[in-house]
Amino acid sequence: GALLAIESSCDDSACAILAADGRILAEAVHSQNEHAPLGGVVPEIAARAHLTVLPGLVARTVEQAGMTLGEIGAFAATTGPGLIGGLIVGSSFAKGLAIARQRPFIAVNHIEAHALTPRLPGLSSPPLSFPYLLLLVSGGHCQCVAVRGIGNYEKLGGTIDDAAGEAFDKVAKLLGLGWPGGPALEKLAREGDPTAVALPRPLMGRAGCEFSFSGLKTAVARVLAPYGREPLPRQHAADIAASFQRNVADVMADRAENALGMAPDASALVVAGGVAANGELRARLETVAHQHGIRFVAPPLRLCTDNAVMVGWAALERLRARSTLDLGMEDELAVLPRPRWPLDELVPVHA
Ligand code: ATP
Ligand code: FE
Repeated sequence: GALLAIESSCDDSACAILAADGRILAEAVHSQNEHAPLGGVVPEIAARAHLTVLPGLVARTVEQAGMTLGEIGAFAATTGPGLIGGLIVGSSFAKGLAIARQRPFIAVNHIEAHALTPRLPGLSSPPLSFPYLLLLVSGGHCQCVAVRGIGNYEKLGGTIDDAAGEAFDKVAKLLGLGWPGGPALEKLAREGDPTAVALPRPLMGRAGCEFSFSGLKTAVARVLAPYGREPLPRQHAADIAASFQRNVADVMADRAENALGMAPDASALVVAGGVAANGELRARLETVAHQHGIRFVAPPLRLCTDNAVMVGWAALERLRARSTLDLGMEDELAVLPRPRWPLDELVPVHA
């Protein structure tokens, strides 16, 4: 039967219904706009908004799929990592539906969902197989992961300070672009000269695949300091945006190179997470992959940022692998939301 999934780990309330083979039957995302004027996600406001939005969103998604709740065969929700309030709201909602309908509940790790999304049927042909190298770049995460199988991940390197999306958001804020900053910064960068402003490329050329962005952000702040409260000339702002984005792409390409050296069996380079929406970054990583003679896979933009399709797909991958092991699926009703839940704490699931 079909599976209904809920995502509520940050500021997007999302619901999706997938057929057992992974076909998307319906999907809906509600991006909370309450946070924009506040310059960042306020956890308490986010949790309340999920509570307000989810019932209607789920009902609409079921309707859009042309189904009734009774026809849903399983329920899934993100149980971590993320903001605890939202995780409690979304997972309790899905568990409630599962209990009421006496269907299995699957607890999904949000990072695993980002990591497995590129395997969605129809997204790339031939379908992406293990192992592959994942560059996960989002608002809260920035890491290189060797994906060897379901539940089988090795983190090769992460950020020593800010996440990539956080860096985009902070620099966008310095440029007065509002929040979330990534898309606005990319747009402004199109009008700028990426070689106009000298900015650092943190860790570039160093061994390993750690990331660092705080120095780059500080350098932007230093360039802006002379303007004080004066308005920034638009062209200068665009040049800074373009230079920042170029350097981030340079650093990521360099880190991806090293990561491929650490995971030589990778059959593909995959980028996921909200920052994967960035066109310059995608283009650079694609070049790296092709230079290594491997495929480059990036999910479409709507599946890069937070969504429930990815949660549903991760649940289906787990269900399919596990059913052969005949594990009791009701067990997962007992899985409690976890604000922190690193990928390497998951255990491999063997099909
Ligand atoms: P996480 O998935 O780690 O919990 P999140 O929910 O904030 O964090 P996503 O929704 O995956 O993450 O991504 C949001 C981030 O992606 C924001 O920081 C946003 O600025 C960034 N982003 C979105 N589009 C772009 C873009 N075109 N260029 C750069 N960054 C972008
Ligand atoms: Fe995310």
